[in-house]
Amino acid sequence: MKAKDIAALLDEPACAHNDKDKSGCARLKPGATAGGCSFDGAQIALLPISDVAHVVHGPIACSGSSWDNRGARTSGRALYRIGMTTDLTEQDVIMGRGEKRLLHAIRQAVETHAPAAVFVYNTCVPALIGDDLEAVCKAAEARFGTPVVPVDAAGFYGTKNLGNRIAGEAMVRHVIGTREPEPAISPNGHKVHDIALVGEFNIAGELWHMLPLFDELGLRVLGTLSGDSRFSEVQTMHRAEALMMVCSKAMINVARKLEEGYGVPWFEGSFYGGGDVSRALRGFARLIGDEDLAARTEAVIAREEARLDIALAPWRARLSGKRALLYTGGVKSWSVVAALQDLGMEVVATGTKKSTQEDKARIRDLMGEDATMIEDGNPRRLLDLCAARGVDVLIAGGRNMFTALKARLPFLHINQEREYAYAGYPGMVELARQIALTIESPVWPAVRAPAPWRVAAKG
Ligand code: SF4
Repeated sequence: MKAKDIAALLDEPACAHNDKDKSGCARLKPGATAGGCSFDGAQIALLPISDVAHVVHGPIACSGSSWDNRGARTSGRALYRIGMTTDLTEQDVIMGRGEKRLLHAIRQAVETHAPAAVFVYNTCVPALIGDDLEAVCKAAEARFGTPVVPVDAAGFYGTKNLGNRIAGEAMVRHVIGTREPEPAISPNGHKVHDIALVGEFNIAGELWHMLPLFDELGLRVLGTLSGDSRFSEVQTMHRAEALMMVCSKAMINVARKLEEGYGVPWFEGSFYGGGDVSRALRGFARLIGDEDLAARTEAVIAREEARLDIALAPWRARLSGKRALLYTGGVKSWSVVAALQDLGMEVVATGTKKSTQEDKARIRDLMGEDATMIEDGNPRRLLDLCAARGVDVLIAGGRNMFTALKARLPFLHINQEREYAYAGYPGMVELARQIALTIESPVWPAVRAPAPWRVAAKG
């Protein structure tokens, strides 16, 4: 990828973090790749497209180190779970065999698995030796008759967020807009409207909590980037009447470009917590501008919120007054704060590393002007805060799990490694259930009590 292309991706006007001179969230800072390189970001963004062969062009470690680190699920073909790499060795580099190996790898993927398409991810080594990814992909597509999409996201280009944008750019350039959707059939006489989701990865099957509601409202999900999606669905996303950026802003360039290129209006929202699910459903109705849809949306929201209230009552009784420290990023911060407060819990502090000024304003609205916001949550800081504020549960990403467990503090996964689906109205009940089970687990009194041999020694 040329330097000017990377510079163009870093300058994303729709992103509130955009800052040409300083530190937009996709810009490279020293050490930033420790959180994932551009290749990792691109692969994370596209891997859930489940009928595509994802070929990593590079040494085996690029593919191996990042393999299967997210719980994205599919309802269809699980080709994305098969790791494919060109496994470049020193010999290949010395002999200049990189492009040849890539062509063979694409052929093997097509002949063995008959994928809907092949995505080829560039990594540092072939980018440094100058393999022409685009040319090989073009030649392979012509020769094997299957779409072959280059995703030029070598690790040294920058951060994981930049990789997300590169992945989005590859979809806009090579995939979205290359097929028209099938005509929609309405099952209940209401007009069907087409929508799209960007930044929803179907972690633990979360998207499936929302699909029944979309179906009931006559909202056909043309495609998602990229939870439980198929190549042919992504191709049609340009025809969406409304698009939602779900939680993560990482692929905001896709939303902006679909708006500019195809007039697709978009909004940003979240599926975490009853209030935000309702707001998301209203968001679609508002952008589509169909009065009948708006009225049906309100009826569905009223019914679901009433059901949710009943389902949450026993959990509210158990969780009311409990204190949580939330350490996650971006939209999820305010969205989960609202969900926890809805359960009667007190959020003593929240992480805001990836949050925009707008996100922080919403957090202040929810938690008050003196809300404790954690920009950089090193383990010591998190534990000190937990001790000082009498925290009952730390809700954070997987890398903080051992911090919490070593401090004998109840912990709940909230990021991509989570095993339970927290989105949608049913997800809110699951979230309450998991927090209660975590806090009330009998393991905590056991590990906090003095060891029996110490008690025996004293006696
Ligand atoms: S692409 Fe580069 S930075 Fe990323 S894993 Fe491979 S070698 Fe490491």
